[in-house]
Amino acid sequence: MANLLRRLPKSIPVVFVAFVPHNPHSMIDTHCHLTFPQLSSRLDEVLAAARADGVDRMITVGTTPNDAVNARAIAEAHDNVYFTVGVHPHYSANLDNSELPRIGEIAGHEKCVAFGEMGVDYHYDDPPRDVQHRWFNAQLEVVRYTNLKKPIIIHCRKAVDDTLAIIRGSGLPGERFVFHCMTEGPDECRKVLDLGAMISFTGIVTYKNAPEVRESAKLVPLDRVMIETDSPYLSPEPHRKVRPNEPRYVTATARFLAELYGESAGAFVERVDANAERFFHLPT
Ligand SMILES: [Zn+2]
Repeated sequence: MANLLRRLPKSIPVVFVAFVPHNPHSMIDTHCHLTFPQLSSRLDEVLAAARADGVDRMITVGTTPNDAVNARAIAEAHDNVYFTVGVHPHYSANLDNSELPRIGEIAGHEKCVAFGEMGVDYHYDDPPRDVQHRWFNAQLEVVRYTNLKKPIIIHCRKAVDDTLAIIRGSGLPGERFVFHCMTEGPDECRKVLDLGAMISFTGIVTYKNAPEVRESAKLVPLDRVMIETDSPYLSPEPHRKVRPNEPRYVTATARFLAELYGESAGAFVERVDANAERFFHLPT
């Protein structure tokens, strides 16, 4: 760095941009996939980088019961990692019903902080809608049956009406749900807010081509906002070209949203952390 500075002409101002959250040890990535090979193959490095950037708690989200077992192993080995269990709609095609009781069983673990991710995705329409609906309904049935009072992470893409109909049909209170990775515009976002759910934003909200997601963000009351990476996917600006995404970059989305809401980064991080602690019943 010293060499670099010496080479710069004196007239050019050197500006160091650093993101320093209010409490450097409090930022939470509420949704990542540490079990995916892009991250699991270099887990120690990923966790160390997150910690160095002030992200020292994360929730690694299960996409199948087998994936949740791997997530559980990571959570058991690391104090600051929590996990969840559920079947992501894309992974429901080849599962049989014997997976359902496993979800209830794994959910009882003390570091399992939520059910999901589960839901409906019409972007790829794969597997067929009826298969996705069946798995979503069945998992909500497990949630009711286990009576664990843990929240539910919803994956919903281009399917807000059907997702809301299934949730309402379950009789579970809307406040127990978070719609993760919000990619919808204001009209659809309003429907989710009417349910009473939390809304979580990924790096997509920072993308130039996603103005409608920013419009949605402006609608969400600040006590219902959460932030996540969904890593290894969706690196936020200004790291969009970095692959894979990692929990450490949740700070970029936090900084972006703080600006959008007109709050200081420190106050905003404190706020979204409190939201996550309350919603997922994390120890504070
Ligand atoms: Zn995910």
